[in-house]
Amino acid sequence: MTSEESRRKFTEWFKKNYPQEYYFFHKIESNLDKLYSTKHLGHEGEFAEISINVQKREGGKYHLAADPFTSIFLGSICKTMVDEFANNIESIASDRVQKEFENRFSIKCLNCKFVNLTHSKYCNTCGSELLSN
Ligand SMILES: [Zn+2]
Repeated sequence: MTSEESRRKFTEWFKKNYPQEYYFFHKIESNLDKLYSTKHLGHEGEFAEISINVQKREGGKYHLAADPFTSIFLGSICKTMVDEFANNIESIASDRVQKEFENRFSIKCLNCKFVNLTHSKYCNTCGSELLSN
């Protein structure tokens, strides 16, 4: 099996068995692609190793040392997570606000499902009488 074939097989397996992890991997990879395209980095057609070194210095302080590829990789992972989190929060929040509005500040018309303000007597859309609980 060529490395291209085994890579493709792995990708299929990864996508099928770990869809969320694959999604994040793909997101991180596509963000990295943009960052690695900078002219500051070489390695055309070669693999660049990603590695992190930790050094304990005098006084017990630790120093994290990473090469440019690793630095970009770490930054990109964090940015991808924050972006995903922010996007999800936005949609979760708007769903919650919508539900809260429907539950507490409104009364739904049984006839046409239009959401009317609480204490309305008649539906603002179809005119049906609203039954308040
Ligand atoms: Zn109605």
